[in-house]
Amino acid sequence: MRFIVLGILFTSFSFTNMNAQILSDKTMGAVGKGISGFTFSDADAAALAKEAIVVMDQNNPVAGPADGYTLRLNRLFGNHINSEGVDLNYKVYLVKDINAFAMADGSVRVFAGLMDIMDDNELLAVIGHEIGHVVNHDSRDAVKAAYKKEALLDAAAAQSGKITSLTDSQLGKLGSAMIDSKHSRKQESEADLFSYNFMKKYNYDVNAVESAFRILQKLSEGQDASFFAKMQSSHPDSGKRADEAKKRATKDGLYKAYEQQKIDNTAPVVKTTAKKATTPKKTAKKK
Ligand SMILES: [Zn+2]
Repeated sequence: MRFIVLGILFTSFSFTNMNAQILSDKTMGAVGKGISGFTFSDADAAALAKEAIVVMDQNNPVAGPADGYTLRLNRLFGNHINSEGVDLNYKVYLVKDINAFAMADGSVRVFAGLMDIMDDNELLAVIGHEIGHVVNHDSRDAVKAAYKKEALLDAAAAQSGKITSLTDSQLGKLGSAMIDSKHSRKQESEADLFSYNFMKKYNYDVNAVESAFRILQKLSEGQDASFFAKMQSSHPDSGKRADEAKKRATKDGLYKAYEQQKIDNTAPVVKTTAKKATTPKKTAKKK
């Protein structure tokens, strides 16, 4: 993912053991491949990502179908699950972390904490960025890289005669790497460009791309600055990415200072409830 990294440590740690369990069979299979020359197909990457996301969904508070967060994402993301030539699926994790990530199988997960601070257009900019990672095969490459690294590490260990399979620690690292995909700056820049073009193509306000990065920039300068700065150390500066988005919008003659719209993650009141509300109800307002 790597659009937003605040709180990723907790996420990664939480699922380490789970991933270790679920990935062990497949990873064991890769050990031999690691020794004899590494082969790992796109289908392998997708299959591995799919297994990992199943476990993650089981171990995270996934927003239900009637949840306001889900309904909002349906409205924003629903039109784009096939629009970019890749099959995507999405869910909301009801956690406070400001985060979102994409997996190689096309699974995108958005955290409630992110949806609490981004309006519709800004959220679409993040979604566009994550779709960019999938379309550009960054997610697949991240799985491949992590898998390869662990398989080769194990191959080296196997030669020493000490270890014949991946350790839990290695498996944990692989799991974390999949969640916390370490994309290069180039990949991030390209995903940012994808996001900008995505916004433009569908007539969303392209200035929301800049705005989304400004939000992250402010976060990095705020109370959690030290933690955030540490986490951001290997990633492009949010301010620079915001500047880049602004430059693009200006060049296209679309630039306008963005004003954040109302953020509403509540489920709309259904009609039957509205009818009931007309019956006299005891109100206990304190004055
Ligand atoms: Zn990213």
